[in-house]
Amino acid sequence: DRLRLDGKVAYVTGGGQGIGRAFAHALGEAGAKVAIVDLVLAKAEVVAEELSLKGIKSIALAADVSKPEDVQRILDAIVARWGTVHIACNNAGINMNSASEDTSLEEWDKTFNVNLRGLFLCCQAAGRIMLKQGYGKIINTASMASLIVPHPQKQLAYNASKAGVVKLTQTLGTEWIDRGVRVNCISPGIVDTPLIHSEDLKPLVQRWLTDIPAGKLAQVTDLQAAVVYLASEASDYMTGHNLAIEGGQSLW
Ligand code: NAD
Repeated sequence: DRLRLDGKVAYVTGGGQGIGRAFAHALGEAGAKVAIVDLVLAKAEVVAEELSLKGIKSIALAADVSKPEDVQRILDAIVARWGTVHIACNNAGINMNSASEDTSLEEWDKTFNVNLRGLFLCCQAAGRIMLKQGYGKIINTASMASLIVPHPQKQLAYNASKAGVVKLTQTLGTEWIDRGVRVNCISPGIVDTPLIHSEDLKPLVQRWLTDIPAGKLAQVTDLQAAVVYLASEASDYMTGHNLAIEGGQSLW
């Protein structure tokens, strides 16, 4: 079965909740060992325990993906434990909301540090290991905001950073494909996770619902098969792709 991941080693950043947590469960259920990486160790530990209870080999690691030393430390820890890494799920991301004329440099830098610098660091560190073994699957989390400007969000930094995720994915995806490393990204629409229930975003959810042809928010379960597919041999001929799962929202 080309969708199975038995014997594969994966990690998921931002794995402590929301989409990352769902990705970790899906990869584990498909047979992979999964390192749960999160800024908050306690959250990663809870998810690692959930996986362990299902009989999936899992470890919890703390890291701020925007810090090179943290990223190297988690890759070293995964290699020390399981020998290598085959599947890198670079999913950690943050979302802040402000009118562009009021966006602070702090918000801009923080958003880019996590969403884009963090992704660069993770792709590079995991990519070096994968290139050496001639095999790897990198799955980045972008956003539908990479395709459209969701209305009426005021998310200059977020939208720009997620567009950057797509171009980074396309560039790495084409640069590394002939050495066995595929790089793709998933662009979720509006997904029912703790992120969208933040004080910043809560007021927008009702408005967003009217923008979604599907007429409802995505659940994390709507994304799980996609990450397994992109992590598996079944998608070996696919690289640099941005897979939108957004209930048609990018078409309206
Ligand atoms: P979430 O806020 O529910 O979870 C994100 C997790 O990442 C948290 O556990 C958090 O502790 C962790 N994290 C934050 N900063 C980190 C850092 N610097 N280093 C390591 N971990 C860090 O978010 P979510 O909704 O699950 O979103 C996950 C990804 O999906 C993000 O990249 C987000 O931009 C993207 N996304 C979400 C939606 C949505 O509607 N929820 C839509 C499109 C894209």
